[in-house]
Amino acid sequence: MQLYNKILLGLILGAVVGAVANFLDIGWLQSFLIALEPIGTAFIRAITMIVIPLVVASLMIGTASLGDLTKLGRIGGKTVGFYLCTTAVAVTIGLLVSNVIKPGSGIDEATRDQLAGDAMDEAAGAMTLAEEAPTVIETLLSVIPRNPVQAAAELDLLPLIFFTIIFGAAVSVIAPKRRDAVITFFEGVNDASMVIIDWVMKLAPYAVFALIGAVVARFGTDLLQSLLVYSLTVVLGLLLHLMITYGLAVRFLAKLNFWQFLKRVAKAPLVAFSTSSSNATLPVTMETAEEELGVSKPVSSFVLPLGATINMDGTALYQAVAVMFIAQIYGIDIGITEQLVVVLTATLASIGAAGVPSAGIITLIIVLNAVGLGQHVQAGIALILGVDRILDMIRTSVNVTGDLTASAVIARSEGEELSFRSRDEERVAAPV
Ligand code: ASP
Repeated sequence: MQLYNKILLGLILGAVVGAVANFLDIGWLQSFLIALEPIGTAFIRAITMIVIPLVVASLMIGTASLGDLTKLGRIGGKTVGFYLCTTAVAVTIGLLVSNVIKPGSGIDEATRDQLAGDAMDEAAGAMTLAEEAPTVIETLLSVIPRNPVQAAAELDLLPLIFFTIIFGAAVSVIAPKRRDAVITFFEGVNDASMVIIDWVMKLAPYAVFALIGAVVARFGTDLLQSLLVYSLTVVLGLLLHLMITYGLAVRFLAKLNFWQFLKRVAKAPLVAFSTSSSNATLPVTMETAEEELGVSKPVSSFVLPLGATINMDGTALYQAVAVMFIAQIYGIDIGITEQLVVVLTATLASIGAAGVPSAGIITLIIVLNAVGLGQHVQAGIALILGVDRILDMIRTSVNVTGDLTASAVIARSEGEELSFRSRDEERVAAPV
């Protein structure tokens, strides 16, 4: 059985067993599933362990062997442009579905206050984290690392990407003999990292079972009922973004068959769904782009780590729906001007959000403040916190699919011949 089928099976089994334990209120089964969670955590740690060696090695090879910095600049410009545009489209879709469905209009005040009351303390924690968020200037400056080793140690990808590009560019201009030695070394590091990913991925189906089983077993089903319309609005928006925005980009810009594309890349969004982290999924995303789509290293090594850090369409879309939901529930009118503010701030907030679980709900506070919902921030966050874990899983899958879409689009725009690998790992022509 293909690995991706096994992961899917793990996910479905985890969800089913978790749901049985939860809905039938079988205490021992719930405890058993929660006790299995460390298997999932071990997987997340093991796969995150390989992020730094893989990103550094692959970006180093990518830039050092390019030998042409203008090409890198061009790829960079296109990548950031594509990311900003798709994120703004995602927010717009989020606003559209919320305006049509009005998820916050069906909840009465008593339910609202009870829901918010239950999670007020947790929401206060998120607000403290948001207060510590740096300003725009500080964020821009922090892209230049004072110490690249520290950036690596803290899994701070943006400064590390910056340093590695500068270093790789420098390597590309040194004496060929030494340059080749450096490139060969990092090629070895890259290959070994890929081997480790293959090993760790063998654990994926069991880890996914453990992660999903524990989430579903723990989940409050009453909560889901009250927040069902809100959750479905987010999911509908995400689906529309996936099918329309990515569907069109893959078909017309990357010139690939969208269904084939989804099938080929599915492993990465599945891991994203189970881990709720774009960063943890990054090694799988990079392996998938290179091995399943045939994206070249200079493109994948740049587009994907950058995407895991700054491109979060799913998060931005979710933030748009959350803002509208909270406004509707408190009876506050969000007009067209405020909605434009949402497009701007949610796009920026999703760039600022780290690729880790629950990052989106923290940067949501920035968007809520920007549209004048400051007074309701804590209660608003408390209101939606209960379903955030589940929505985080779904939006993270979309974030990662967006990164993969970008890698295919940018590769094609650079004249690369993309191809799907056949089952026996032979390359076959890319069908449109
Ligand atoms: N968990 C998301 C990610 O890693 C970020 C978020 O929306 O919370 O992509």
